[in-house]
Amino acid sequence: MKLEIVQAGNPVLRQRARPLTPAEIPGKQIQNLIEAMRECMREAPGVGLAAPQVGLPLQLAVIEDREEYLKEATAEYLRERERRPVPFHVIINPALTELDGEKVEFFEGCLSLAGFSALVPRARRVRVECLDEHGNQKIMEASGWYARILQHEIDHLRGGLYIDRMYTKTFTSADNWAEFWKAKPIVEIRKNLDLGAV
Ligand code: ZN
Repeated sequence: MKLEIVQAGNPVLRQRARPLTPAEIPGKQIQNLIEAMRECMREAPGVGLAAPQVGLPLQLAVIEDREEYLKEATAEYLRERERRPVPFHVIINPALTELDGEKVEFFEGCLSLAGFSALVPRARRVRVECLDEHGNQKIMEASGWYARILQHEIDHLRGGLYIDRMYTKTFTSADNWAEFWKAKPIVEIRKNLDLGAV
Protein backbone atom coordinates (compact mmCIF):
# COMPACT_ATOMS: atom_id res chain seq x y z
CA MET A 1 0.00 0.00 0.00
CA LYS A 2 1.53 3.31 -1.10
CA LEU A 3 -0.01 6.32 0.59
CA GLU A 4 -0.04 9.92 -0.51
CA ILE A 5 -0.33 12.86 1.83
CA VAL A 6 -3.21 15.18 0.95
CA GLN A 7 -2.79 18.95 1.13
CA ALA A 8 -4.99 21.65 2.72
CA GLY A 9 -8.13 22.19 0.69
CA ASN A 10 -8.95 18.50 0.51
CA PRO A 11 -12.31 18.18 2.34
CA VAL A 12 -11.17 15.02 4.16
CA LEU A 13 -8.92 17.23 6.34
CA ARG A 14 -12.00 19.16 7.57
CA GLN A 15 -14.16 16.16 8.36
CA ARG A 16 -14.59 14.62 11.80
CA ALA A 17 -13.00 11.16 11.49
CA ARG A 18 -14.97 8.12 12.61
CA PRO A 19 -13.84 5.94 15.54
CA LEU A 20 -12.59 2.41 14.81
CA THR A 21 -14.49 -0.52 16.31
CA PRO A 22 -12.48 -2.84 18.59
CA ALA A 23 -13.21 -5.64 16.09
CA GLU A 24 -11.61 -3.91 13.10
CA ILE A 25 -8.35 -2.88 14.83
CA PRO A 26 -6.63 -6.31 14.61
CA GLY A 27 -7.93 -6.84 11.05
CA LYS A 28 -5.61 -6.93 8.06
CA GLN A 29 -6.89 -3.68 6.60
CA ILE A 30 -6.08 -1.55 9.64
CA GLN A 31 -2.81 -3.38 10.39
CA ASN A 32 -1.65 -2.82 6.80
CA LEU A 33 -2.71 0.80 7.01
CA ILE A 34 -0.63 1.30 10.19
CA GLU A 35 2.45 -0.18 8.46
CA ALA A 36 1.92 1.99 5.40
CA MET A 37 1.43 5.13 7.53
CA ARG A 38 4.64 4.39 9.41
CA GLU A 39 6.53 4.20 6.10
CA CYS A 40 4.82 7.33 4.79
CA MET A 41 5.65 9.32 7.95
CA ARG A 42 9.31 8.26 7.85
CA GLU A 43 9.63 9.03 4.18
CA ALA A 44 8.12 12.52 4.56
CA PRO A 45 9.82 12.81 7.13
CA GLY A 46 7.47 13.82 9.92
CA VAL A 47 6.89 13.16 13.63
CA GLY A 48 3.21 12.34 13.28
CA LEU A 49 0.68 11.39 10.64
CA ALA A 50 -3.10 11.14 11.01
CA ALA A 51 -5.29 8.93 8.80
CA PRO A 52 -7.21 11.92 7.32
CA GLN A 53 -3.86 13.14 5.95
CA VAL A 54 -3.74 10.07 3.72
CA GLY A 55 -7.36 10.54 2.69
CA LEU A 56 -9.02 8.26 5.27
CA PRO A 57 -11.47 9.77 7.81
CA LEU A 58 -10.54 7.32 10.59
CA GLN A 59 -9.54 8.11 14.20
CA LEU A 60 -6.04 6.73 13.91
CA ALA A 61 -2.65 8.42 13.97
CA VAL A 62 0.97 7.31 14.13
CA ILE A 63 3.66 9.18 16.09
CA GLU A 64 7.44 8.89 16.24
CA ASP A 65 10.10 11.46 17.04
CA ARG A 66 13.37 9.79 16.12
CA GLU A 67 16.74 10.42 17.70
CA GLU A 68 18.19 11.23 14.26
CA TYR A 69 15.71 14.14 13.81
CA LEU A 70 17.18 15.80 16.91
CA LYS A 71 20.85 15.49 15.89
CA GLU A 72 21.01 18.84 14.08
CA ALA A 73 19.32 20.86 16.82
CA THR A 74 21.23 22.60 19.60
CA ALA A 75 20.79 21.48 23.20
CA GLU A 76 19.22 24.88 23.92
CA TYR A 77 16.66 24.46 21.11
CA LEU A 78 15.68 21.00 22.37
CA ARG A 79 15.53 22.10 26.01
CA GLU A 80 13.26 25.09 25.27
CA ARG A 81 10.85 22.81 23.43
CA GLU A 82 11.24 19.94 25.90
CA ARG A 83 11.83 17.78 22.84
CA ARG A 84 13.02 14.23 23.41
CA PRO A 85 12.85 11.12 21.23
CA VAL A 86 9.45 9.38 21.21
CA PRO A 87 9.30 5.73 20.10
CA PHE A 88 6.90 4.74 17.32
CA HIS A 89 3.35 4.21 18.52
CA VAL A 90 -0.25 4.33 17.37
CA ILE A 91 -3.20 6.21 18.84
CA ILE A 92 -6.77 5.16 18.04
CA ASN A 93 -10.05 6.86 19.13
CA PRO A 94 -8.20 9.29 21.42
CA ALA A 95 -9.71 11.58 24.06
CA LEU A 96 -7.50 14.49 25.10
CA THR A 97 -7.45 16.49 28.32
CA GLU A 98 -5.28 19.56 28.77
CA LEU A 99 -3.53 19.56 32.15
CA ASP A 100 -2.58 22.57 34.33
CA GLY A 101 -3.85 25.22 31.88
CA GLU A 102 -0.25 26.18 31.05
CA LYS A 103 0.29 27.20 27.40
CA VAL A 104 3.53 27.29 25.43
CA GLU A 105 4.14 28.86 22.03
CA PHE A 106 6.36 27.51 19.27
CA PHE A 107 6.46 27.39 15.49
CA GLU A 108 5.05 24.20 14.07
CA GLY A 109 4.37 22.81 10.62
CA CYS A 110 2.19 20.14 9.03
CA LEU A 111 2.78 17.67 6.20
CA SER A 112 -0.60 18.76 4.80
CA LEU A 113 0.51 22.41 4.67
CA ALA A 114 3.85 21.60 3.10
CA GLY A 115 6.39 24.42 3.13
CA PHE A 116 4.72 26.59 5.79
CA SER A 117 4.94 27.20 9.51
CA ALA A 118 3.37 29.40 12.21
CA LEU A 119 3.51 30.18 15.90
CA VAL A 120 0.87 28.06 17.68
CA PRO A 121 -0.06 28.15 21.37
CA ARG A 122 -0.64 24.69 22.84
CA ALA A 123 -1.08 23.14 26.28
CA ARG A 124 2.29 22.20 27.76
CA ARG A 125 0.92 19.04 29.35
CA VAL A 126 -1.87 16.72 28.25
CA ARG A 127 -3.43 13.39 29.11
CA VAL A 128 -4.58 11.13 26.29
CA GLU A 129 -6.79 8.08 26.64
CA CYS A 130 -6.87 5.91 23.55
CA LEU A 131 -6.50 2.42 22.13
CA ASP A 132 -3.20 1.13 20.81
CA GLU A 133 -2.63 -0.92 17.63
CA HIS A 134 -3.71 -4.10 19.47
CA GLY A 135 -6.93 -2.48 20.67
CA ASN A 136 -5.66 -2.21 24.25
CA GLN A 137 -6.68 0.75 26.41
CA LYS A 138 -3.85 3.20 27.03
CA ILE A 139 -3.54 6.30 29.19
CA MET A 140 -0.59 8.57 28.45
CA GLU A 141 0.58 11.77 30.08
CA ALA A 142 2.85 13.89 27.94
CA SER A 143 4.62 17.22 28.17
CA GLY A 144 6.60 19.50 25.88
CA TRP A 145 7.03 18.69 22.21
CA TYR A 146 5.42 15.26 22.55
CA ALA A 147 2.31 16.90 24.04
CA ARG A 148 2.30 19.27 21.04
CA ILE A 149 2.50 16.37 18.58
CA LEU A 150 -0.43 14.64 20.31
CA GLN A 151 -2.55 17.80 20.22
CA HIS A 152 -1.67 18.40 16.55
CA GLU A 153 -2.55 14.83 15.49
CA ILE A 154 -5.75 14.71 17.54
CA ASP A 155 -6.83 18.02 15.95
CA HIS A 156 -6.54 16.25 12.58
CA LEU A 157 -9.00 13.60 13.79
CA ARG A 158 -11.52 16.39 14.59
CA GLY A 159 -11.13 18.14 11.22
CA GLY A 160 -8.72 20.72 12.67
CA LEU A 161 -5.46 22.17 11.35
CA TYR A 162 -2.85 24.27 13.15
CA ILE A 163 -3.88 27.29 11.07
CA ASP A 164 -7.11 27.34 13.14
CA ARG A 165 -5.03 27.97 16.27
CA MET A 166 -2.04 29.94 14.99
CA TYR A 167 -1.28 33.61 15.48
CA THR A 168 -2.15 34.57 11.91
CA LYS A 169 0.54 37.26 11.69
CA THR A 170 3.23 34.64 12.25
CA PHE A 171 2.28 32.48 9.23
CA THR A 172 5.45 32.04 7.18
CA SER A 173 7.03 29.95 4.46
CA ALA A 174 9.45 27.42 5.92
CA ASP A 175 12.32 29.15 4.09
CA ASN A 176 11.46 32.53 5.62
CA TRP A 177 11.04 30.91 9.02
CA ALA A 178 14.62 29.64 8.78
CA GLU A 179 15.87 33.01 7.52
CA PHE A 180 14.01 35.44 9.80
CA TRP A 181 12.43 33.69 12.80
CA LYS A 182 14.15 30.44 13.70
CA ALA A 183 16.92 31.98 15.78
CA LYS A 184 14.73 34.58 17.51
CA PRO A 185 13.35 34.06 21.02
CA ILE A 186 9.55 33.91 21.14
CA VAL A 187 9.34 37.07 23.29
CA GLU A 188 11.16 39.01 20.59
CA ILE A 189 8.90 37.60 17.87
CA ARG A 190 5.87 38.67 19.90
CA LYS A 191 7.32 42.18 20.11
CA ASN A 192 8.28 42.33 16.40
CA LEU A 193 4.79 41.33 15.31
CA ASP A 194 2.99 43.32 17.99
CA LEU A 195 1.32 40.24 19.48
CA GLY A 196 1.28 41.72 22.97
CA ALA A 197 2.93 40.55 26.15
CA VAL A 198 2.62 36.94 27.28
ZN1 ZN B 1 -0.50 17.94 10.52
